[in-house]
Amino acid sequence: MNPPRPRPKLDAFNTPFWTGGAEGKLNIVHCADCGQYTHPPLPLCRHCQSENVAPEAVAGTGAIDTYTINHQAWVPGLEVPYVIARVRLDGVPGVYLTTNIVGSPIEDVAFDDPVRVVFEEQSGIFYPLFEKVA
Ligand SMILES: [Zn+2]
Repeated sequence: MNPPRPRPKLDAFNTPFWTGGAEGKLNIVHCADCGQYTHPPLPLCRHCQSENVAPEAVAGTGAIDTYTINHQAWVPGLEVPYVIARVRLDGVPGVYLTTNIVGSPIEDVAFDDPVRVVFEEQSGIFYPLFEKVA
């Protein structure tokens, strides 16, 4: 059992991202004016500064853009080694999530592996982690 993950401070803009997993949804802020995405969540579009933005459920699939393997137990009880990855999301250009790859041995993780989101719930926060697509 791993220690608790760092808990995000919820606000009106990031709550859909951190709790969308309750419905199996990965919500990313989408701009209705220019069509681009903004992450981390903000009340305005990072591309055109429009306030016409809202969370939108995206596919939740992607690929491993880059990754590293952590061997250091930074806090007591942290199970190592584990994979820290940057995932680029399908259909969400320009958005990358820093996350963990779970569900497969670390030696099986490689660049460009296709992955899909899985949510780890801790006290009402649904952390988006990713697993390899078989
Ligand atoms: Zn925009």
